[in-house]
Amino acid sequence: MKAFDYQRATDVATAQQQASGSGSRFLAGGTTQLDLMKCEVERPERLVDITHLPGLDAIHVTGERILLGSLAKMSRVADHPQIRATAPVLADSLALAASAQLRNMATLGGNLLQRTRCSYFRDPQGYDACNKRKPGSGCAALNGLNRNHAVLGTSAHCIATYPGDLAVALTAFDAVLHLRAPDGSSRQTPIATFFWLPGERPDLEHDLAPGELITAIEIPVTAALKRSHYLKVRDRASYEFAAASAAVGLELAKDGSVADVRIAVGGVATVPWRAREVEQALRGKPFDEERLRAAAALITRDAVTQAHNGYKITLLPRVIARALMTAGGLV
Ligand code: FAD
Ligand code: SF4
Repeated sequence: MKAFDYQRATDVATAQQQASGSGSRFLAGGTTQLDLMKCEVERPERLVDITHLPGLDAIHVTGERILLGSLAKMSRVADHPQIRATAPVLADSLALAASAQLRNMATLGGNLLQRTRCSYFRDPQGYDACNKRKPGSGCAALNGLNRNHAVLGTSAHCIATYPGDLAVALTAFDAVLHLRAPDGSSRQTPIATFFWLPGERPDLEHDLAPGELITAIEIPVTAALKRSHYLKVRDRASYEFAAASAAVGLELAKDGSVADVRIAVGGVATVPWRAREVEQALRGKPFDEERLRAAAALITRDAVTQAHNGYKITLLPRVIARALMTAGGLV
């Protein structure tokens, strides 16, 4: 690992000033940042430790919205009684992620900004070709082992999956990120536009300027959020990323039809992926298994498979249908 300068910040303004150079990175729980430095995918000059910044780990739940500080630990949010009651999908997406030790260390902001688990991306010594790590170098995964890679949102330049769970849940429920720039100005951005498709520049991953800090995550409280569910399917039951996952929420009308439905999927796309075509096919319709399965199949219409990940085309609609059936009480 390259030697680096370490600074522990105690106020937001100083932290941002220290981290605004291109060779600087914030350090939260460190569970992603230090891994990337150990495998030399990232070689920053300076780490600015933000774990001691005051006031950024609060959890507020009202009837209208949930506001989560970016430094709140994954485990604390997952176990919070009001979060479990108001937004089961958020609690479950966090509780099913990583391991207990990691969840105790890791923060929500760091979780959103974790980088792909593509094994070619994380092995610069073994593989030179990775457009995300080294723009213009090619993509080793296209002709390599690509069982874990994406089938949605891919480009000819990168097929890496966005690996996180929380961002999938936030995408389904129209979360908004609160950001603070180094000059002290703040802005809010919908999570729907925060993550960028790989296109021709897979190295550009999200809408965050150097030194810009995620301060909080806001989620509107809706009936669908209260009746929500996160289903994660993976190769083993713990300590594993999703092969396919679905964050869903439902509001059923008095006659049993679908008044509102939210669906986003993970483990299958280059960014957290909202399944709007499936939502549209279900809204206003009777809620039954046959209709759910037919609507869920629409998600694969624009999917592009590689040599080893075709199984996701079969798996994904089943995960969506199962998650909706669970939320709707059909299983
Ligand atoms: P850090 O490592 O400290 O930071 C990550 C990045 O975010 C850095 O670039 C840092 O500069 C930046 N950053 C951090 N906070 C902010 C902020 N507030 N504003 C701006 N930039 C910021 N995740 C899942 O979702 N599901 C899983 O199943 C899962 N399994 C895992 C298994 C293993 C073995 C490991 C190692 C990780 C796994 N993870 C999983 C990822 C894990 O959840 C993330 O590593 C963790 O959430 C990152 O949070 P952190 O606080 O440690 O971030
Ligand atoms: Fe790199 Fe993306 Fe190809 Fe993986 S899929 S090797 S991250 S360019």
